[in-house]
Amino acid sequence: MKKTLNDVNVNGKTVLVRVDFNVPIKDGIITDDNRIRAALPTINYLIENNAKIVLFSHLSRIKEEADKSKKSLQPISKKLEEILGKKVLFVNQTRGTELETSIKNLKEGEVLLFENTRFEDVKNNEVVKFESKNNEELGKYWASLGDVFVNDAFGTAHRKHASNVGIASNISESCVGFLVQKELEMLSKGIDKPEHPFVAIIGGAKVSDKIGVIDNLLKKADKIIIGGGMAFTFFKAQGHSIGKSLCEEDKIDLAKSYLDKAEGKIVLPVDSATNNEFKDSKPSFAGLDLPEDQMGLDIGPKSIDLFQSILKDAKTVAWNGPMGVFEFENFKNGTVGVCEAIANLDGAFTLIGGGDSAAAAIQLGYKDKFTHISTGGGASLEYMEGKVLPGVDIIKNK
Ligand code: ADP
Ligand code: MG
Repeated sequence: MKKTLNDVNVNGKTVLVRVDFNVPIKDGIITDDNRIRAALPTINYLIENNAKIVLFSHLSRIKEEADKSKKSLQPISKKLEEILGKKVLFVNQTRGTELETSIKNLKEGEVLLFENTRFEDVKNNEVVKFESKNNEELGKYWASLGDVFVNDAFGTAHRKHASNVGIASNISESCVGFLVQKELEMLSKGIDKPEHPFVAIIGGAKVSDKIGVIDNLLKKADKIIIGGGMAFTFFKAQGHSIGKSLCEEDKIDLAKSYLDKAEGKIVLPVDSATNNEFKDSKPSFAGLDLPEDQMGLDIGPKSIDLFQSILKDAKTVAWNGPMGVFEFENFKNGTVGVCEAIANLDGAFTLIGGGDSAAAAIQLGYKDKFTHISTGGGASLEYMEGKVLPGVDIIKNK
């Protein structure tokens, strides 16, 4: 078990907190502040417990000097101030005397935010990736600015960067924040210690994106429902005609081997909603074989019934990847059907990992129907693959 905020003394300490403030910004306006709000339990706890709080985060990617003006954390600082109802001191540096002095002058309960950690990826128009390649000197420098390191950025936990692994390797006291703690508890319950029957649902566009997840969940789940674009590579493996649907020719053999190995664990769709091109207009329907001119863009109504009947008895459900092109009004039904089946489960533990799946469930109105929707797309995907997350792994154990 990783140390959490409750296991360290933060009173009067300068606490360095890696948060995930990588929010969408359009024309200088934050269009979704959920990630900022998600950090509040940790920030408020630190305020109440008299810490001197130093926050930092990445925002998007920095590939050249010109990116920096658009990707400052300044607007985020304003937003945080508004949400916290408390002054946030913004320092527009990632290192230097102003930052060092401002941190030294912090009083207990005060909050400072410094500039986008990925500004360290480009210096004088040269791509150096000090942050993204975990430059040793940078990790040491940031670690030297405080007494305790708190990692509360789940979204980057699968990355080995200076602002998580670098700092944690160079500071004596570290722990995870409340957001990361909750993510780990939920993912562990859903993936590592599931109550059975455990049904996994895997979808999305490509088999190649989900190989790790299928491998890992084949070992753990009682049933694996496969939908989305990736189902067509499996259909092809079974000798069906798939028309113009997505197919990864080089993954057909792999799909075959999964079907052999799974011994009936894998449940594929039995029909599809199709269109003659990748377009949001009235669907046609096909059974296991699609006409030459059609493209499967969603699972069909019989598959929805089938999947619902399998989900009915589940005690644990882990879901990654939409059942169809849910972004299209005409092809969202499969994903809605699965959301609906999960919403109707009584007392089951239900979990979504994966950026688009989470977005789909929220957009379709099922936000409150899941036990947990992970905030970390890539990080939750890697957790489902059974991989170690470096940003968490480096934190001290209890
Ligand atoms: P996640 O982010 O949850 O891991 P993915 O990125 O793997 O999910 O997949 C999401 C994408 O897959 C969506 O943009 C969706 O439109 C697409 N998709 C789902 N089904 C199909 C299909 N039949 N054909 C083409 N694209 C599909
Ligand atoms: Mg995705």
